[in-house]
Amino acid sequence: MAISAADKLTCSECHREVREEDQFCPNCGSLFEANHRCSDHADRVAEGACIICCVPYCSQCGGWVNKLFLCANHAGYEIYEGMVRVYGVSDEVNAQFVRRCLNQSGLHPMIFARKANPISGGGPDYTLFRASGEYDGHIINEIKVMVPCQEVLKAERVLQDLELKM
Ligand SMILES: [Zn+2]
Ligand SMILES: [Zn+2]
Ligand SMILES: [Zn+2]
Repeated sequence: MAISAADKLTCSECHREVREEDQFCPNCGSLFEANHRCSDHADRVAEGACIICCVPYCSQCGGWVNKLFLCANHAGYEIYEGMVRVYGVSDEVNAQFVRRCLNQSGLHPMIFARKANPISGGGPDYTLFRASGEYDGHIINEIKVMVPCQEVLKAERVLQDLELKM
């Protein structure tokens, strides 16, 4: 059992709050019980649960990136403090439109835009990191629409319904 018993239950890996009924940490993907199996390999012990799709996977189907467990499908997502990029555009009107649509679907989107840094003359100062993988051609000055990691799959369905390309 990896939950440390204090006043609140916290994850022993990321020290964020978890609920007693959680089988894994929704913030970092640590499993609290050792008997989980990989959802693709019934004979392999799961290493963690993907924080985006919440599915347990073995070390071949997923992995730890910056202390977050992500499955192979979601390893390339941009993640910053529990928020995940689901959409990016170059103009703010579009970004606000997407944010409103996600809001109306009961999600909690946030807009993340690069602030020009006066010292570097507007060079990149994203503190976002790409969990893994190659730069996939996102525009450099894009305005990112991000949602909490638990809302990514719902947000993607909303964007699909809007026929927006991610
Ligand atoms: Zn955790
Ligand atoms: Zn996943
Ligand atoms: Zn596996």
